[in-house]
This record gives sequence, C-alpha cells and structure tokens, in this order.
Amino acid sequence: MNLLSQYATAASILSTPSLTEGTLSSLEQIFGHTLILGALDLLDRSNVLKYNAPARHYYHVFGSTSSYQVFLDLPSPQSAYCTCPAFAYLIPESPHMCKHVLAVLLGRQIGRIVDRPLTNEELAPILLQEYS
Ligand SMILES: [Zn+2]
Repeated sequence: MNLLSQYATAASILSTPSLTEGTLSSLEQIFGHTLILGALDLLDRSNVLKYNAPARHYYHVFGSTSSYQVFLDLPSPQSAYCTCPAFAYLIPESPHMCKHVLAVLLGRQIGRIVDRPLTNEELAPILLQEYS
C-alpha cells in the first residue's frame, strides 16, 4: 500500500460511526501498534477534551509530561494539526498522525471525549499561539 492509499484507508476507517476490533487492527497496520496503544491509553484516562467556542472548537490532549492542542477539519491539505513535537517533525510525505490526533479521531467515534465550553475570548490567545 502506498502512502496515499494508506491515508485514504485510514480516513475511511475513522469516518465510520463505530469502532470494532477489525477497525483497530486495520489502523494498527497503517500507523503501528505503539501509536494505537498510545491513543487508546489517552482516551482511557479521559485525557482528551473538546473545547467548544461559539465560532469553532479545538481539542486538548493531556499527555504524561505536557499537554497539546489538536485542531481537526482544517481547510488545509493535511486537515489536522497537533502542537506536539512529534507532529512537527513528521516528514511532509508521511500520513500526518500522532497519538494525540489519533486519540481525538478515535475518541470522536467512540464518544470518549469530554466536552468543555469555551468563549471566544479564551480561544483567541490559543489561536494566536498556533498561527504566530
Ligand atoms: Zn500530537
């Protein structure tokens, strides 16, 4: 499987409404065991939060040493963005995936994301940090 078809497969898996053992093993073939386990572990600990602002939303993932912001559904080719170092060092040709983005994608499917409201005033500094 080339990278583009891997990505297409992953995208179609992650857009189905339910998560099965088969889904997980397919994802594991694409992204590797470590990444899947890491993502599931974050969800297990309820470490994935969704901040809802009136204009948009973003996700906050609490890691063991630091916490990161995850943005999905972006109007850009890669469509997802995470503030973690692993994501920053990914090569452009590779599927853009770190355990935080994966945790959010899986969490959306299985309903394990904690919802938190957020005002635009609270969201502004976060966005400034992202785009500066
Ligand atoms: Zn990340």
